[in-house]
Amino acid sequence: MRKIPPVCLVLFFLTLVGGIKKKTINIGIFLNDDDHYETSTIALTSVVRRINLYTKVEYLLRPHIFRTQKHEIWKTGQTACNLLRKGVAAIFGPEHPEINSMIQSISTNLEIPQFQTFWNPLQAPFVTNQQPEKPLQIFNLHPSPWSLSKALATLIRENDWKSYAILYESDEALLRLEQPLNQLHPNDPAVAFKALGSPENYRVVLKEVKNSGVLHFVLDCEVERIMDVLKIAKEQNLMTEFHSYILTNLDAHTLDWSELKNIRSNITALRMIDPADPHVKNAALIWNQNMKYDILDTVKNAAIQKELNRTRPKRRTYNDILPSKLLTKTILLYDALNLFISIFSELDSKLNVTLRPLSCESNLTSEHGRLFSDLLILKRNHHLLLQPLTGPITRFDTIGYRRAYRLQIVELEEAKFRVTGTWDSSAPDKLNLTLTQEERVTELKKKIQKRNFRVVSRLGDPYLMRLPDPPGKPLLGNDRFEGYAVDLVSEICKPQHLNCSYTFELVPDGMYGNFDPVTKKWNGIIKELLEYRADLGICDLTITYERRKAVDFTNPFMYLGISILFSKAVKAPPDLLTFSHPLSFEVWIYIATSYLIVSLIMFIVARLNPNDWENPHPCNPYPSERENIWTFRNCCWLTMGSFMTQGCDLLPKGISTRLVVAMWWFFALIMTACYTANMTAFLTSSRMGSTIESAEDLAAQTKIKYGCVDGGATSSFFKDTNFSTYHRMWVQMESADPSVFEKSNKDGVKRVVSSKRKYAFVMESSNIEYEMERNCDLVQVGNLLDSKGYGIAVPFNAPYRKAINEVLLKMQEMGLLQTLKDRWWKEKHGGGKCTKDKQSDDAAATEMGFDNVGGVFVVLAIGVVFSLMMAVCEFLWNVRKVAVRQKITPKAALIQELKFAVNIWARQKTVNAAISMEKFD
Ligand code: GLU
Repeated sequence: MRKIPPVCLVLFFLTLVGGIKKKTINIGIFLNDDDHYETSTIALTSVVRRINLYTKVEYLLRPHIFRTQKHEIWKTGQTACNLLRKGVAAIFGPEHPEINSMIQSISTNLEIPQFQTFWNPLQAPFVTNQQPEKPLQIFNLHPSPWSLSKALATLIRENDWKSYAILYESDEALLRLEQPLNQLHPNDPAVAFKALGSPENYRVVLKEVKNSGVLHFVLDCEVERIMDVLKIAKEQNLMTEFHSYILTNLDAHTLDWSELKNIRSNITALRMIDPADPHVKNAALIWNQNMKYDILDTVKNAAIQKELNRTRPKRRTYNDILPSKLLTKTILLYDALNLFISIFSELDSKLNVTLRPLSCESNLTSEHGRLFSDLLILKRNHHLLLQPLTGPITRFDTIGYRRAYRLQIVELEEAKFRVTGTWDSSAPDKLNLTLTQEERVTELKKKIQKRNFRVVSRLGDPYLMRLPDPPGKPLLGNDRFEGYAVDLVSEICKPQHLNCSYTFELVPDGMYGNFDPVTKKWNGIIKELLEYRADLGICDLTITYERRKAVDFTNPFMYLGISILFSKAVKAPPDLLTFSHPLSFEVWIYIATSYLIVSLIMFIVARLNPNDWENPHPCNPYPSERENIWTFRNCCWLTMGSFMTQGCDLLPKGISTRLVVAMWWFFALIMTACYTANMTAFLTSSRMGSTIESAEDLAAQTKIKYGCVDGGATSSFFKDTNFSTYHRMWVQMESADPSVFEKSNKDGVKRVVSSKRKYAFVMESSNIEYEMERNCDLVQVGNLLDSKGYGIAVPFNAPYRKAINEVLLKMQEMGLLQTLKDRWWKEKHGGGKCTKDKQSDDAAATEMGFDNVGGVFVVLAIGVVFSLMMAVCEFLWNVRKVAVRQKITPKAALIQELKFAVNIWARQKTVNAAISMEKFD
C-alpha cells in the first residue's frame, strides 16, 4: 500500500472541518504559453488549495488562469474585460510586455491590484506617468532593474575584473548592466560590447571575442539560449580555466549543465531561490503530492470540492518538480498569490470588502483597490498565511518594486551550482562570501594536484637538451629531455610542493615569442600559450613589457642582463715598441711637448733672472762682465737629464729658474713612477693586442661586427632603446651584410669562436656565463647593459600562477634555484673548466691614458707659469737696481735690460763701473 505523507494527512484533517459557506474571490492569472506553464499552474493551484482548505480563511479562492500568446493582445484584453465583469480581486501577470502594458492600464484605471513576478523595466516609466491621485496598483516581486544591476556591479567588482566583454542578446542588458558600467573608472580598460544576434551568429561573435583576447564575460541572454552560447564558446576554446563568466539570468541554475561537465571555466550566477531552503523543499514536495494523491476528494463542502477538482493539475506524464529546477517567476507567483490573499484577508476582516463587477468601458473603480494598496505599502511587516519562498516580503517602493530580497551567488562545480555567497538588497555594496579565501586556495591546490601541466619549451643549452636515443629504443615523452628547465619543473611538481605532473613539448617553430606588428600575431612559446595549447612556457624566456601584455609571468627564477661575448686575444709576438705600451700615444706626445716648452721657459727665465748671470772668473771679485750659462741647449740637457732620472751637472741659481726646474723634477718623478709601474703590469699581463672594453667601444668601431639572436628579447632591447649608443649599435646590426643575427645563442657562440675576433655576440649574461665555463677562449666584455629576469610564462588569469610563485620563492629561499643553476652551469656538460683562467685575466693591464696622468701635467703647467711670474718680478727688481746705479731713468734701464735679454745669442753682459766695484757674491 502507498504510504501517505504527513502533510497530506494534515490537509485531510482540515478538510473534515471544512463545511462552511465561503466568499468567492475571483482572481485573474495570465501565464505565458511556454514550457513552464504547467509548473507555474501547479505552484498557483497549490496556494489556492491550501488557502481554500484553510478553515480560518473565509474565502474560496477562484483562480482564472489564462495562457497568453505574445501576439494575442486584443484577445487578452477582451478576456480581462470579461473577467472584470465577474468582479475580480487582483490580476497576476501577464509577462509579455505589450499585453502587460494594457493590463497595467486597466488595473490602474479600475484600481485593481496587479502582481508581477518578472523583470519589467517599463514599470517605472508607466507608474511615474500616472496621475498622482491614482493609487499604486502595480506590485512587482521581481528585483527592480536598478537593484539587480547593483548586485551585478558588486559581483563584478568583487571578482576584480579589470576588463571584460558583455555578450548580450537584447538592449535590455544595458539596463541590467548600467551600474557595473557606471562603476568603471575612466582609466580602466574598455569593456567590450558584443551583441549575440541570432543563434546562427553566435559562432562569428565568439570568434571575434576570442581574437580580442578577452578572458572575462558577462553573458546576458534568455535562459533557453545560455547553453547554446556556452557550447559554442567551448568549441571556440573559450571555456578554459583562464576564462570566467557571470550569467545575469536568475534562472541559470535550472539548466542541465551535464553537457559542460568537464569545463574548467569559472561560471558564476545569481538566483533568488534557495533550493536547499526547507520551505522551498516542502513546497515542491506538496506540489508533487498534489499531482499524485486524491485524498482531497474527501472534502465535504461541495463548492470547495468542485473548486479543487477544477484546479487539479492535469499532467499527462508525471515528473517530480525539483526545487533546483524552479524558475524565479514560478516561485514568485506562489509568493505573490500568498501575499495577495494574506493582505486581502486582513483588509476584509476589517472592512468586509465586496468585489463589484467592473467594466472596461466605464470609469467605475473597485471598492478595495485603493485600500489594498495603502495597506500593502504602508504596513511594514505583513503576516503571510503561507511561508514565503523567497524570503520575507516586507516593503515595496513608490514604483511598486519589492525592496528587500536576497540573492544567492552560485558557482558551477562539476555540473552543479554551489553557493559561494549571498547579496542582500539592504547592503548592496558588499557580498557575504561563504567560501573563504583559504578554502578557495585549498580547493585550487587540490585541483592542481590532479593536473598534468602541458609545458612548452625550446631546445637550448642548458635549459632543454635532447638526450640521444639508445639504439633501437627511441625515448618518449619527458624522457627525451634533460636540462635546467626539466629539473625546475620537476622540482615544482614534487609532492612537497605542487604534487602535479607535467609533459614537455617542443614549440613547433622553435622561437621564444615575438610579436609581428604587420600580421599582429605572436609566434613561438607565447603563441602556444595564447592559443591555450600549453599551460606553462619555460626556457630562457625573458620577461619583457611587450610579452607581459600578451601573457602572464611567474616571478623570475633567474636574474641577468645583456652583455657582450667576445674571443680572448691570442698572445701576440713581442713588439719592438712594447716599451711604449704603458703610456698611451697621446701621453707620449704630451710629454714631448711639455719637455720642449719647459726647456724653452727655463731658457727665458734664466735670461731674465739676474742671479743666473754669473761671474765668469770666480777669482776676480769685480768682474767687468757677467756670463749666463743657460743656453737653450743646456736647458734641454737639464730637463732631459732630470726626466731620465740621471740629474745634471749644471744647476740654476735664481729662484724662478729653480722653481721651473723643481716643477719639472716633480713631473719627471711621477711620470717615471707611473711608467715603471705600468710596465711591470704589462710584462706580466697575458692580454695582448688591441681589444674592446665596452659596448661603447664596439659602437665606436666598424672592424669588429656584432649581432644577437634574431627576434629575441636582446634584439628588442636594441630596437626599442632610446639610448643613443645602443641605437647606433642597432642601426649597425640591421645594416650589416652579411646578417649579424643568429637563430640561437649556440649559433652566435659558434660564430664568435670561428670569426677570430672579427665578431662579437651580444647575449644574456646567464648564457655568457654558461659558455665561459666551457670555452676558456671566450670572454665577457664590459658590464651589463640592462637588468631583467627569466620567468615561467602562463596564460592570463592562470589560477596556478600564484601557487607556482610560492614554490619559486620557497626554492629561492632554500637555495634550490642556485643549486640547480650550479648543477647545469658549473658541473654538468663540461662546466667549471675555466675558473683558473678567469683569475689571470683579472690581472690584465691597460695602457695609461691622459686621464690617468693629466693631473701631473696640470701641476707642471701651474708651476711653470708661477716661475715665469717670479722671473718677471726678479727682472724688474734688477731693472730698478740698474737705474739707480747707472743713474738713468727706469724706462731707459728697462729698455736696455730688455734689449739684452731678448738678444739670445749674447752670453756675456758688460758690467757698469759702479756695479763692478760691488763685490760679486
Ligand atoms: N632570452 C631571450 C628571449 O627570451 C632570447 C635570447 C636573446 O634575445 O638574447 O627572447
